[in-house]
Amino acid sequence: MHHSKPSTSASPAGTQPFQAHFRCFRGCPGEYSIYDVIYTCPRCGGLLEVQHDLAALRQRSAQEWKALLESRAGTTRWPYGSGVWSKKEWVVPNLDDENVVSMFEGNTNLFWAERLGRQIGLPDLWVKLSGNSHTGSFKDLGMTVLVSVVRQMIRRGSSVRAVAAASTGDTSAALAAYAAAAGIPAIIFLPQGKVSPAQLIQPIANGAHVLALDTDFDGCMRIVQEVTQDNSIYLANSMNSLRIEGQKTVGMEIVQQFDWEVPDWIVMPVGNLGNISALYKGLKLLMDLGITDRMPRLVAAQAAQANPFYRSFQQGFQEKAVVQAQTTLASAIQIGNPVSYEKAVQAIQETGGLVEQATEHELANAAAMADLTGMYTCPHTGTALAVLFKLVERGVIQGHERVVVISTAHGLKFTPFKVGYHEGSLDGVESDYANPPVYLPPDPDVVKETIQRKLNG
Ligand SMILES: *Cc1c(COP(=O)(O)O)cnc(C)c1O
Ligand SMILES: [Zn+2]
Repeated sequence: MHHSKPSTSASPAGTQPFQAHFRCFRGCPGEYSIYDVIYTCPRCGGLLEVQHDLAALRQRSAQEWKALLESRAGTTRWPYGSGVWSKKEWVVPNLDDENVVSMFEGNTNLFWAERLGRQIGLPDLWVKLSGNSHTGSFKDLGMTVLVSVVRQMIRRGSSVRAVAAASTGDTSAALAAYAAAAGIPAIIFLPQGKVSPAQLIQPIANGAHVLALDTDFDGCMRIVQEVTQDNSIYLANSMNSLRIEGQKTVGMEIVQQFDWEVPDWIVMPVGNLGNISALYKGLKLLMDLGITDRMPRLVAAQAAQANPFYRSFQQGFQEKAVVQAQTTLASAIQIGNPVSYEKAVQAIQETGGLVEQATEHELANAAAMADLTGMYTCPHTGTALAVLFKLVERGVIQGHERVVVISTAHGLKFTPFKVGYHEGSLDGVESDYANPPVYLPPDPDVVKETIQRKLNG
């Protein structure tokens, strides 16, 4: 049934053949090929994870790895110019280069948020714009890996005919784009009326089969699992641990951008909990390879309207909480039953991290405050910022510490959120920083007088 077929390919820059396969995250015995259609452990039903051959990877020194990565990042060398594929040996080593489906994702800017940091008493605040990406969210990092593996499966005679995902919007946009680049049909399940217009039109433009279901994300998830039972349609949700391998590069990239220094904290918004699990896995590999010698503390930020992970954290992670997710402006994290719960618990516990939440009012105003310092913040990034503000205020995060906030999507995907905020029409939000346009007749005196009034505050 699920046997692993070792397929080795030497790295072009070295001689060692590196291996990776699936294994049960909970530690059940058994190894499975990443080219088999398998999403969960056949023994316990839990999540799988991609396991790398650490002993082989360790044959290269930390210095050699760093030099190799630095020589690749940002070049046009196929596929190593990509921020993900520059780390190919750590991601999917045994994949043929010609099967990679990449739009040279990653290599996103990490910038010093100087003015916002000063305003909150945190001068060493940085923002990683992982939404400055092909489809406008970090989901591209995972999809390039998943779709590449599927292309290799298909080219080697697998019966897979299409890829499918349930989505809160960004997963489907990324899947549709990468599937289209590879010429593989994509089927997208969206909760009707719960994604932004940009997120709805992206997969449509990329030619995916878009099915808008009259349910929420968790309802879509149940349907897609049903539909992908027969193995001819490949499931691309974050239960699929291949995506984790691509997403884990974001933390590695942050460390590389700091000349291999580890920040004190990384704060990110979480929903299904795949991304924070990925962040942990990537940072852990850097430690295992001797490239770094410590972990940052990880902070998971949730919307109070959809906060199962926050509730679990408050109970000391005694058990997984599942809630009916309520409507939140942070629609991409409106998830009540997070798939990657167990992996995320490890990420928080092993790094001395924590989980905090933000109300609609808090996340919208945090986004607007950041925008006033030049950012253009999506509501999820607003959630992370609101949580950061609280932790700084409480003294949990201290003024001398280096903090990175991961911005997960581009603000341009969420125009109704921005418009609603500045119109003052968002439910549960008082727009403290509303900056509506001024409507004037084309009269120079009125215009001059208005400008004077504005500049005098
Ligand atoms: C998917 C997504 C998240 C949440 O990531 P998870 O892996 O589901 O926790 C956060 N922000 C944005 C913009 C997303 O698209
Ligand atoms: Zn298991």
